[in-house]
Amino acid sequence: MLPKTLVSRCALLAQQTGLECTRPCKNLQRAMSSVNIPPPACMLRPLEVPYRYLFGPGPSNVPPRILAAGARPIIGHLHKEMYEIMNDIKQGIQYAFQTNNHMTLAMSGSGHTAMECAVFNTVEPGESVLVSVNGVWGERVAEIAERMGAKVHTMVKSPGGYFTNEEIEKALAKHKPVLFFLTHGESSAGLAHPVDGVGDLCHRHNCLFLVDSVASLGASPLLMDQQKIDILYTGSQKALNAPPGTAPISFNTRACHKMFNRKTKPVSYLLDMTHLSNYWGNDGKPAREYHHTGPVSGFFALRESLAILAEKGLEESWRQHREVAEYLWKGLEDLGLKLFIKDKDLRLPSVTTISIPDGYDWKELLAYMIKHHQMEMTGGLGPSIGRVIRVGLMGYNCSKLNADKALLALADALKHCPKRKA
Ligand code: PMP
Repeated sequence: MLPKTLVSRCALLAQQTGLECTRPCKNLQRAMSSVNIPPPACMLRPLEVPYRYLFGPGPSNVPPRILAAGARPIIGHLHKEMYEIMNDIKQGIQYAFQTNNHMTLAMSGSGHTAMECAVFNTVEPGESVLVSVNGVWGERVAEIAERMGAKVHTMVKSPGGYFTNEEIEKALAKHKPVLFFLTHGESSAGLAHPVDGVGDLCHRHNCLFLVDSVASLGASPLLMDQQKIDILYTGSQKALNAPPGTAPISFNTRACHKMFNRKTKPVSYLLDMTHLSNYWGNDGKPAREYHHTGPVSGFFALRESLAILAEKGLEESWRQHREVAEYLWKGLEDLGLKLFIKDKDLRLPSVTTISIPDGYDWKELLAYMIKHHQMEMTGGLGPSIGRVIRVGLMGYNCSKLNADKALLALADALKHCPKRKA
């Protein structure tokens, strides 16, 4: 069937000119037949998503309350009710980060977005950046800084290693960076890096202190203001238990001073904090203007996850993660497994790393658990690939019952996967 408007336009033309249109329908048919790729068969089938125990390093399972918040009807991203929700999120992040920073917001994007936002806004091309690398996250930040033209210096340890304050101070004095990066919860190695005193060192050396807490926030103590962290970011999908896709970040006044007094514009328009600070109502201007369309449902879910953390209390959340982690560590040792991080005080409570047991193929163990227990654990990442299996029990998943389930699945996999002779 031809659309009515097109048919009548042909008739009108004939009336006006007295000429019969000889090929109108052919032309129209050609226009109409421009769709020559049929709807794909998969799109005509319903969406299927299996239930999985997400006991890897993230995302973790999302509790029904947060899923329900994300399923609420959409409102406009510039409606006043949305601004209120964003203001709530800001306060929720200030609590979770333990900061009074005004410049606190959530990125529209995953943890990498916050990582890039922090580097792109506070560093200009040619400036010196110091990155501690003891797993994959330092490697990523070094690459991000290099791509935007910074002079990148790295301090490198193998996964599981950490940097003393003396080593950090020596490198700060040598490279005179404008920014120093440290991963608090190194999820690729399972390490909780000490942070005390590093902020003071950075301030003494006139450098901003940037910390990644994607895998540790809510699970391991971190106090942004007290520990003099200038820029802190996290992700939504780990101990906060929201779906992936939003990433809280906060800048203190030192960081704001550096990023709002640049000579050059940041390389990314989307991640430019002059725009984002307006979008989040942080720049003191009377009107918030359109910059990009924020992930409305993702923000609803993030608000709910921050509300759950506020109700539970940070200290209780830290305590719970530590208690369950210790229970899991003991259970793993009882199975004859070796923990990758030897020093208990340096272990990340949210993500535990197990040295791959002798004679086993780690990929077979993981595949067995997915197949027979619907349970995800993962291998290493970056420099820890082939060295560890990672078990994460975060937020909603953080219980002794789930630790028992993880131990049972591992014991079963060890029993049934073939062991190669040395
Ligand atoms: N930093 C750390 C410590 C992480 O564990 C992760 C995610 N595994 C990221 C950064 C990157 O976050 P995303 O995958 O959300 O971009």
